[in-house]
Amino acid sequence: MLKLTNIIAIGTLIIVAFIMTKFKPVYTVYFNEEKIGNVLSKEQLEKELEQDLYDNNEKNIAFADLNVNIKYKRNFVNKNEQTDDEKILLAVEENSSITYFEYAICLNGIQKTCVKTMEEAKLIQEKILGELATSNVSISTIYTKELNIDNEKSQDLIANEIIENEKIKIANEEKIKQSTINGIYLAVNPVNGRITSRYGANESIRNHTHKGLDIAAKTGTIIKAVANGKVSYSGQMSGYGNIVIIDHGNEIQTYYGHCSKLYVKVGSQVKAGQTIAAVGSTGNSTGPHLHFEIRKAGQYVNPIKYLYK
Ligand SMILES: [Zn+2]
Repeated sequence: MLKLTNIIAIGTLIIVAFIMTKFKPVYTVYFNEEKIGNVLSKEQLEKELEQDLYDNNEKNIAFADLNVNIKYKRNFVNKNEQTDDEKILLAVEENSSITYFEYAICLNGIQKTCVKTMEEAKLIQEKILGELATSNVSISTIYTKELNIDNEKSQDLIANEIIENEKIKIANEEKIKQSTINGIYLAVNPVNGRITSRYGANESIRNHTHKGLDIAAKTGTIIKAVANGKVSYSGQMSGYGNIVIIDHGNEIQTYYGHCSKLYVKVGSQVKAGQTIAAVGSTGNSTGPHLHFEIRKAGQYVNPIKYLYK
C-alpha cells in the first residue's frame, strides 16, 4: 500500500511539473457571466482597482459604484499567453458609475467656476477678494457625474475673467439704478439728437421755465418709448402740438411733444425702444425737435437726471 501511495505522489508531481513547464495558473475574471480576461494575481488586480477607482485624487474621483458582479475562477493558460490587467481595469471603469469631486467658487452666491484642487480655489478666492473686497467669495466641494473643470486656463486667467465680468455687472447695475425713477427703468433715450434746451431754462419763447428737455433732430426722425408702458394720450394738445403720453405705472408718465407723426393709439402697450412717433415742429415750436417730459405723480422731473448720461 505504501508503495502505491508513493507511486501516485511521484506520478502527480511529474504531471504537475510537466504542466508547469507548459502552462501557468491565472484567474479568469468574469463580469456577471461574461469572461473579460485573465490576471496573474487577484490581489494585485484588486489593489490596482482600489487605486484607480476608490482612492484617486489625480482624476478627482470621489467614489465609484460597480454595476457588475466580478467573479474569479482559477484557470491554467499557456505560459506565453499575455494577461489582461489593463483591459480589465478599463472595463471596470466603463462598468462603474463614477462620482467626481471638484471645488466650486461662488461669488455673492452665484457659482462662477470649478477647479481641481482646494489650493487652486483658494488662490482664485484670494485674487477676487483683492480686487472686489466687498464681495462674498466662497468655496464648496461639489460632487458630480461630470467634471466642469477647464484645465486649459490658469488660475490667474480664471480669476481675472470673474473679476472683469463682475465689474461690468456692477457698472450695469449702477447704470440701471441711476436711470430708474420710482422703480421704472428708463432704458432708452427717446431720440438721437442735440440737446437745445434743458429743464429749468428761461427762454423768451415761453413765459415760464422750461418743464422738459428739447432735443433737436430732423423732421421724421424716429422717437422711441423710454420704458415699457401704456399709451394714455395720442393726439393734439395746446402748445405741445401732436403729442404722445405714456403711462409707465408707479405714477410715472413721459410726454413726447411737437411730433410730425404719431404711430401709437391710446391704450396700446409699448416696449422700451419701440417707435411711437416722429420728430416735427407742431404746436409752440420754432424748429423740428422733441420736447420730452417726465412726470412723477403729476410733478415735473428733470429728465437729464435719468437719460442722456
Ligand atoms: Zn421743450
